[in-house]
Amino acid sequence: MTRFEPVIGLEVHCQLGTLSKLFCACANTFGAPPSTLACETCSGQPGALPALNGEALDLALRAALALGCELAERVSFDRKHYSYCDLPKGFQITQARTPLGTGGSLELSSGKHVRIERLHLEEDAAKILHRGGESFVDLNRAGVPLVECVTAPEFASAAEARDGLERLRELLVFVGAGECDMERGSLRCDVNVSLRAADGALGERVEIKNLNSFVHVHDALAHELARQRAMLEGGRAIARETRLWDAERGETRPMREKEGSAEYRWLPEADLPEFALDRARVARLAACLPEPPASRRRRYVEELRLDRELAEVVLESPASSDFFEAALKHSRDPRAIASWMANELRALLRERAHGIAALEELPFKPFDFAELVELASSGRASRPAARTILREMLRSPRAPRELLRALGLERIEEGPELDELCQRALEARPEALADLRAGKLRALEALLGAALALSGGRAHPDAARATLVRLVREQRP
Ligand code: ADP
Ligand code: MG
Ligand code: ZN
Repeated sequence: MTRFEPVIGLEVHCQLGTLSKLFCACANTFGAPPSTLACETCSGQPGALPALNGEALDLALRAALALGCELAERVSFDRKHYSYCDLPKGFQITQARTPLGTGGSLELSSGKHVRIERLHLEEDAAKILHRGGESFVDLNRAGVPLVECVTAPEFASAAEARDGLERLRELLVFVGAGECDMERGSLRCDVNVSLRAADGALGERVEIKNLNSFVHVHDALAHELARQRAMLEGGRAIARETRLWDAERGETRPMREKEGSAEYRWLPEADLPEFALDRARVARLAACLPEPPASRRRRYVEELRLDRELAEVVLESPASSDFFEAALKHSRDPRAIASWMANELRALLRERAHGIAALEELPFKPFDFAELVELASSGRASRPAARTILREMLRSPRAPRELLRALGLERIEEGPELDELCQRALEARPEALADLRAGKLRALEALLGAALALSGGRAHPDAARATLVRLVREQRP
């Protein structure tokens, strides 16, 4: 039987997190009442003129630079015409002849690189809302800046394509391009998929549009690949078409053809004269790009020896990764820092302890966090004590060391207090004491447990063990 290999390419749209829209001063905000953020320009009134938003250009350039794209010498725009109610002007302003970036590549989790064919700026369309059998147009989204990123058809499975989308999202978030939230539609993905026969010729492809979660991308591709495989093995040909993913029924089905979609009557956008890309500006943007997440991941796992899952938690957001890096400057134990971030700190944020729910809101510095972790790993604070201190740090400006004292959580390492605690433990567990005297060394652990419990976790285990042994020797019957 002929063998077929999946061939998949992604087309990803990311809304740029600018203050205003791409060609007008309307606010670029999600969730405002419908059509309250619109003006002559973005609602397509005759005679209104677009003006390019420099912030959008900068964000798109940051994305292009992070992907290693080659940048266009000159920036120009084109009109793509179609007639549909989400497009008030009757055309979308995009970059067809000369995309802002070409070439470049995306690094996947496996280390494989997938080429980027092009990256360009364009405006978003308005949003159609369907309610109770009626349809409405919300102009707030019309003219919102998008960066579209098209990969080469180099993903070899549904899982790999999903990983590619996740890695691209991560990169866009780390360079500050936008929030990239698929649920809110600020990141959207279309996929192209075909099967290549063993003889090497590319097969006919199908496009699946509007996939709005990572799971949908994976499931739609897996399903479509199975459908195409069954068709080809049954001797039938694949038709080039656009399909939609029906997540409820778990299948793709053909999309109704958009009328006239084949003819876009492309035109250069004459209202936006082309201009030369300012190389000094590009150099400034390139100089302040953060280290990409793929390279951070490699460093965390290979050099800092973090477990894969721990590295993923640290890389959950730029804020988290930056916090980790800053704390590391004051610590020699990356794994302890990462583990305290992943476990104790995360738990407190989840629970919104003292009203704090995000790393950005923490009232203490990574430096203080490093000190706290050091208190715990050196044994100067027990784990429960360190946990209590961390919680207190969410509302107290005092350093962890001071809190350790102020909260009476210092370890008891010697002195009459420790002697007394251990004596009480011996009296509380006469049977364990008898066992120990009879030579059952395991009984010492029971006595130690009792002493630690009596101290509320403050007694240092090694010191308490030594004290117990000394007391038992001294008190030979
Ligand atoms: P169009 O201009 O029709 O959108 P492109 O050539 O720009 O077509 O390709 C769009 C997407 O389709 C890209 O992501 C590309 O990787 C992907 N693609 C191209 N050929 C194939 C194929 N044979 N199988 C799967 N995907 C493909
Ligand atoms: Mg496209
Ligand atoms: Zn506007």
